[in-house]
Amino acid sequence: MQIHKLTPAPIRFARRGNKENPFPGGVGVGCWRQNQMSVKQILTKDNFSREEIITLLTCIGEERTLLFQKSAEVKEKYIGKKVWFRGLIEFSNICSKDCLYCGIRKGNKNLRRYNLSDEEILAAAKFAFDNNYGSLALQSGELESASVTGRIENLLHRIKELSGGKLGITLSVGEQEHEAYKRWFDAGAHRYLLRIEATNEDLYKKIHPRNSKHDFRRRLNCLKSLQNIGYQVGTGVMIGLPFQTNEDLANDLLFMKDFDIDMCGMGPYIEHAETPLIEYAGELLPVGERFDLTLRMIAILRIMMKDINIVAATALQAIDPIGREKAVRIGANIIMPNITPGKYRDSYKLYENKPCTYDSAEDCQSCLEARVSLADNEVVYGEWGDSKHYERRRKDQIQFTTE
Ligand code: SAH
Ligand code: SF4
Repeated sequence: MQIHKLTPAPIRFARRGNKENPFPGGVGVGCWRQNQMSVKQILTKDNFSREEIITLLTCIGEERTLLFQKSAEVKEKYIGKKVWFRGLIEFSNICSKDCLYCGIRKGNKNLRRYNLSDEEILAAAKFAFDNNYGSLALQSGELESASVTGRIENLLHRIKELSGGKLGITLSVGEQEHEAYKRWFDAGAHRYLLRIEATNEDLYKKIHPRNSKHDFRRRLNCLKSLQNIGYQVGTGVMIGLPFQTNEDLANDLLFMKDFDIDMCGMGPYIEHAETPLIEYAGELLPVGERFDLTLRMIAILRIMMKDINIVAATALQAIDPIGREKAVRIGANIIMPNITPGKYRDSYKLYENKPCTYDSAEDCQSCLEARVSLADNEVVYGEWGDSKHYERRRKDQIQFTTE
């Protein structure tokens, strides 16, 4: 007989609990509520309502297992048990912005700033190519200027040249003018990662300085520009931010679906001592819960958007040594091994406990390969591993415009 638990309406704050209410986000509260679909019923659908997503974000025990089983099945069916690498080159930690959560924000004076030379970047790209990585990702703090645009454009041409056009390239260098995005696309970058960070504009304002340099609308417009130009567009959010609620997280996923993203990179928020948000460290969900929420977000998104690329974020590994492997098992299909030259890695600390800052590129590769096979998946070498969703989206668009 099904026992109907009479539990209170879901409490939506993904905040840390207290003695009276140890699980304010709903963890520990059965998901089966009167007049509400069970997780089993919800998982028979492809599209979820906000309330259903909240149920999936908070279910426990067997129901949580069902969610992860379903997302793993969807990944296997639409993507295969596979992982593609993007060799990650964090080429500069110089940033003109002051995001309140980020360890390399401009206001952090306690940090050695660096900017790799073109030769160092090209050597890292060659490493990726020689090791048969299908793609690399260039990431940095955010700088906007004619010289930065020109430099990246030139690097893109040279990376294409050294790999005979074979290396796929993802860029993640923040908000830029449409023209810069267009020039980089024409020079060979074909994927762009720009996390929206939080789709609730009020929350966005709480985690950024209130000035025109940190404007939610501009970030959104940048994402639209990237999509219009023809990039495979990736976005994502941080999970477990101060002030964030489960409802916010559900809305984040609905935004991704609605925007029709091709790729997603989302990970747990991890505090950094040299940032203003450290003030709220005592109010956060425990890291274990932030980790679990991230896995759920990945699993739910995999079911909602079956053929997109989903990154197993490095930040997962800052919490759990096999964090990325767990994400791969339940739905992620992209890993970004760090191939930044070792001496700079310690200075690209967006958050504390960033893993692999003392490893070399070779160490990263063999360690990750072992981890991926532990997750019962295989690494695909020599392929770009483009988002299948993008291919489908483009085909639909062409069909639509020729009809
Ligand atoms: N400057 C670029 C790319 C580098 S930052 C940009 O902002 O888009 C890459 C990502 O690191 C950000 O999008 C953010 O989501 C993440 N990040 C920054 N600080 C973090 C923290 N304290 N915890 C977890 N992720 C963080
Ligand atoms: Fe700069 Fe990106 Fe960090 Fe914001 S998140 S401070 S833009 S590096």
